[in-house]
Amino acid sequence: MKVIGLIGGMSWESSAQYYRIVNQEVRARLGGVHSARCLMWSMDFGEIERLQHRGDWAGLTDLMIEAARNLEAGGADFVVVCTNTMHRMADAVAARIGIPLLHIADPTAQAIRRAGFSRVGLLGTAFTMEQDFYKGRLAAKFGLEVMVPDEADRRSVHEIIYRELVAGEIREASRDRYREVIARLVERGAEAVILGCTEIMLLVSSADSPVPLFDTTELHALAAVDLALGVSAAGERPGAC
Ligand code: GLU
Repeated sequence: MKVIGLIGGMSWESSAQYYRIVNQEVRARLGGVHSARCLMWSMDFGEIERLQHRGDWAGLTDLMIEAARNLEAGGADFVVVCTNTMHRMADAVAARIGIPLLHIADPTAQAIRRAGFSRVGLLGTAFTMEQDFYKGRLAAKFGLEVMVPDEADRRSVHEIIYRELVAGEIREASRDRYREVIARLVERGAEAVILGCTEIMLLVSSADSPVPLFDTTELHALAAVDLALGVSAAGERPGAC
């Protein structure tokens, strides 16, 4: 089994889910008391969030390269960045290490394609919904048409992530707000919705959506197990949750 190198702490609320999923999945596949071989480099999200909102992406890229190199030096066979937003610098990080980086958008898009959808809504931080690094990859590499909420809805989705979800706060009013945002995306033609922030799965589930949801946390963690166990990424697995 390969060693999974997780860059976590962004936030640790979702990193804990990655740790749970990779271990549960290895046990389910190998049986007995098998568990995942993994390392986690966990960031201080207070520092990360401050640099993000200042727009210091160069400083953040340096921190991410340092984390990936530490994992490589520690024996990781590949790197998993446990956040969608911090894939903004995924190419820069991948170019500075000697082991592969498993991009979060790829298993997500593959699952969407396998399920037969092409027009999807995207929920995430404002950085993920508004900048091109994520939507651009989904469109260019997988031919997906990606829709994002309007400006007011993007603001609520972003604020709920940074004020509540990364702090482990789950509020019914925020779940209702996300339900409304999802419903508006579906009205505009979204066939499915990507939970493109690794904490959103803490708040919403398939019960909150009239269309299938694609949870990046689960899909990314399962793809990490595939890679660790040498299973082809094209293996059959239902993607929707
Ligand atoms: N975990 C989140 C994501 O998937 C947001 C926190 C961050 O900015 O890294 O984008």
